Amino acid sequence: MAQIPEEVKNVMTRLEAAGYQAWCVGGAVRDLLLGRTPGDWDVTTNALPETVLELFAPRALPTGLKHGTVTVGGGRGVEVTTFRRDGDYLDHRHPERVEFTGSLTEDLARRDFTVNAMAMDLRGDLADPWGGREDLAAGVLRAVGAPEERFEEDALRILRGLRFAARLGFAVEAETGRAMVNRAADLREIAPERVRTELEGLLCGDHAAQVLLDWPEVLGAVLPEILPAVGFDQRSRYHCYDVWEHTARAVEAAPPQPIPRWTMLLHDLGKPNTFTLDEGGEGHFYGHWRESVRLAEAILERLRFDNRSRRTILTLVERHDCELPLTQKAVRRNLARYGEETVRLLLAVKRADNLAQAPAFHGRQQGIDQWEALLNMTLAEDSCFSLRQLAVKGNDMTEIGLRGPAVGKALNDLLELVMDEELPNDRTVLLDYVKEKFL
Ligand code: ATP
Ligand code: MG
Repeated sequence: MAQIPEEVKNVMTRLEAAGYQAWCVGGAVRDLLLGRTPGDWDVTTNALPETVLELFAPRALPTGLKHGTVTVGGGRGVEVTTFRRDGDYLDHRHPERVEFTGSLTEDLARRDFTVNAMAMDLRGDLADPWGGREDLAAGVLRAVGAPEERFEEDALRILRGLRFAARLGFAVEAETGRAMVNRAADLREIAPERVRTELEGLLCGDHAAQVLLDWPEVLGAVLPEILPAVGFDQRSRYHCYDVWEHTARAVEAAPPQPIPRWTMLLHDLGKPNTFTLDEGGEGHFYGHWRESVRLAEAILERLRFDNRSRRTILTLVERHDCELPLTQKAVRRNLARYGEETVRLLLAVKRADNLAQAPAFHGRQQGIDQWEALLNMTLAEDSCFSLRQLAVKGNDMTEIGLRGPAVGKALNDLLELVMDEELPNDRTVLLDYVKEKFL
């Protein structure tokens, strides 16, 4: 079994030596018992925050005194939080006040899910008043206490729950699940950044598809744009799934990183609005990417995405269905337009999209492999696909007498010609061409 790391043990030992209790708690204990490596380590204690600050000075920082949290040590540090119980919640988000308590059991009772409500001390003794260990073994996610009340207190717990389900492959216990649906509307009061973080964790989970399929009405509270896709029959031979199931499978088929996973979530949302049937009874979604881009823009804006991610995701949604001719010209043009990173992401998106289509069409993966091989070859032979790589620069243009906008125009024309192999990337040849055409 994984171990509590030295730096965490040292903090716990020090607290115990000073006469206090010290417990590893929450997600760290959950992950430890699952044999997974915890992302962060939380310690809980009956020592008050001021005492913790004194005990660990000068290596302690008051990072969340309001909530009783002190961070000890360098790097990411260990968060030490005093046992607390939460006061009333009036806004589905924040407890009105927090009160410190001498009781570990009370502290565990304020936590969200039974598997997150366990504590372990230095000797490996487990405090588990809510049966977290049993739920962990059964793969069940169960709210601590009365689920509706707990979600009403803090709606973010609903999305945290779905994130854990997507990460761990756990089933949501029935009453907990009903409460998630009943309280989903409260999610609209949660800060968009926090919603985005949880959705991103959910999307990047190894079991994201099942969660997307099982909880559309909960997700629809923050992403109403997905709802028309749920159960939407594509009537197309390329597809053996409805739009939402295709989407869910495409998400899970993509690399588990935010950009490709968000892209797959959004890539086909425009389908229901662009559906047409031909005389043969076959469904089409002409230009659906355009409508997907429109819906994606609204979602990314609402969830406060940074500009760079937003632009990349929108490019990928826009291009997910485009042809990639198997020619070096096409490779260079794509590199020139989007850059290597985005082009590689586009290939990942196309792979995922195809893997979520009817198996008879999975042969298309080979086309993507071939395009990738051509991309690698093109990059390796340092061919020219940007102005930086062009054998002539702006000052060459001014030296031979071009001025103003003509300089940029000439360079761009040359780049196009070089990319299309109509001219070699050779200084003399390029200068001769400009002299002939532009002077
Ligand atoms: P992760 O692996 O993502 O860090 P985690 O369970 O450790 O998951 P944290 O946000 O690090 O989640 O929180 C640590 C612990 O604090 C949780 O395990 C849980 O016991 C408690 N907790 C966190 N957020 C909430 C919340 N909104 N409501 C109740 N308890 C919470
Ligand atoms: Mg954690």
